[in-house]
Amino acid sequence: MLAELRILLELQEKDRAIQGIESEIAAFEPELEELDAQVRGAEERIETARRSIEEAGSHRAQLEIKIENFRTAQERRRQRLEWVRGAKEAANLMAELDLGRSVLAREEAEWLRSADQVQEAETSIAEAEQQLEEIRTAQAERREEIGALQAECRDRMVGAEQERKGVAERLSKGSLVQYERIRRGRAPLALYALHEDACGHCFTAVPMHRRQELQAGQSITLCEACGVIVYNADRLPGA
Ligand SMILES: [Zn+2]
Repeated sequence: MLAELRILLELQEKDRAIQGIESEIAAFEPELEELDAQVRGAEERIETARRSIEEAGSHRAQLEIKIENFRTAQERRRQRLEWVRGAKEAANLMAELDLGRSVLAREEAEWLRSADQVQEAETSIAEAEQQLEEIRTAQAERREEIGALQAECRDRMVGAEQERKGVAERLSKGSLVQYERIRRGRAPLALYALHEDACGHCFTAVPMHRRQELQAGQSITLCEACGVIVYNADRLPGA
């Protein structure tokens, strides 16, 4: 039983080593996400500028139709003005023509402005594309560095997994199954040393008879509260 416990503890060490490498790999994730966010930001600025070009373009097309219709209407009023006889009707038409002229002038001014908007959006696309290029260039070296460091971690992981497999093979099937089941639970580890009279994980007191079993060298027990394997570190010579 003590031999089995030692293998279990060895297995736990191998798993901690694997976890350590996993967290080394994961530690780069926030930085990678930050780099991705910078790229995404520049891409979104390009996308926004593209949309405003489209919007400015369709606004411009609508204005052209509107202006064309206004011009036709003005032309019709001018033609009618040549034929009207009544002074009142002529005055009305003159007033309509005046109003039409100012509306037309306003729409034409807006049409000119819309050309500026398209121009502005094109400039910001060019700027955002330039920015994206600069961000990619600035990131390239660090991305390569991170990639190399993560690859180095994965290489070590292969070795660590090999070692773990070697230890697991030395355990009895029952102990291995139990260990794996506990490891899938909430506790970060499967084995905890007895902490005074309590489970070293959740600090729930281990009942007297169980503690006696541990003292007597039965070497392991399960915590009734959290289910981890509790062992007596004092019973491990050399540990
Ligand atoms: Zn516990």
